[in-house]
Amino acid sequence: MKDFVLPQLAPTSMQQKNIPDLSFVIPAMNEAACISETITRVASHAAALVPQFEIIIVDDGSSDDTFDQARQMSDHHPVRVLRLSRNFGKEQAIMAGLFASKGAAVVILDADLQEPLCHLETMLAHHAEGFEMVYAVRETRDDEGWFKRALTRSFYRLLNYGSDAPIPANARDFRLMDRRVVDALCALPERNRFMKGLYGWVGFRSKAIPIHLAPRAGGTTKFRMRNLFRLALTGMTSFTAWPLRVWTGIGMIVAVSAILYGVMIAVRTMIYGIDVPGWSSLVVATSLLGGVQLISIGVLGEYLARVFTEVKGRPGFIVAEDHDPTTVMRGLS
Ligand code: UDP
Ligand code: MG
Repeated sequence: MKDFVLPQLAPTSMQQKNIPDLSFVIPAMNEAACISETITRVASHAAALVPQFEIIIVDDGSSDDTFDQARQMSDHHPVRVLRLSRNFGKEQAIMAGLFASKGAAVVILDADLQEPLCHLETMLAHHAEGFEMVYAVRETRDDEGWFKRALTRSFYRLLNYGSDAPIPANARDFRLMDRRVVDALCALPERNRFMKGLYGWVGFRSKAIPIHLAPRAGGTTKFRMRNLFRLALTGMTSFTAWPLRVWTGIGMIVAVSAILYGVMIAVRTMIYGIDVPGWSSLVVATSLLGGVQLISIGVLGEYLARVFTEVKGRPGFIVAEDHDPTTVMRGLS
């Protein structure tokens, strides 16, 4: 079998001596407005909680000076900065960070401090109780419009339909994962990743904690409707197969109805003779069937495209620069 390790980075470094208690993985794309503050705040929280930690910033193809700002912070804090060669998307940026992380536990965090750091203590407490994954769930989505909320709700319902490892709705990427979970995620061969699904798929003892999101510390959101739609498609095609199968059922229903209708027409013709009208029902039936066929081919295409990207076997991301001052900082003591 092929090795599953992406070429740029070794998956884990448990063998290395200097293992931090906690690694923070922070994907950042055009976050110059808040990255310095984020690093300072994360470092001060972490120093109060664990003896050793590292902060990994993954610059996901920023066009502003996120990378330089983060790199400068490494003079004062244990910060490692990876610069991806272009924008590969949040999921890949998270993976790049996970591959680089060395900690006994890893926390994934957004760069905009929307997720309150006060929850770190609770996460660590649950980890100490034996939970291998402690994830944050948004309690309310009041800040979003009804349309987006309705879309999200139906997305999770469709996604979890018939699934044996349901994906919790409204779960965030903000979570603490034990090294074992991170190793399991890093060992998965797929490249086109839907992280929220994979967290659930790998299993392990998990605990949800409710959080309220704060407003962004600076900058603007990177997720427009288009990105969300693409992410939703990746989610559907990597975690469900029912959209492929449903066409067999629909096809059968249509075929049986067509046969019954045919029989009905034959009988009617024998009793009442031939009548000419019917062109409108013909047009409706033909265009309806045409539409259904195109949709089903489209669905097939989505899955095929996914197979195509996986078969090409290109890495999910490319690290252009790795600024690694290589040390973990002592907190507490
Ligand atoms: N992000 C990224 N690559 C992208 C888009 C977003 O690394 O292509 C990062 C972004 O910098 C932030 C996190 O993902 O740290 C969440 O993005 P954002 O806050 O814009 O999403 P929202 O909170 O609005 O859903
Ligand atoms: Mg945000």
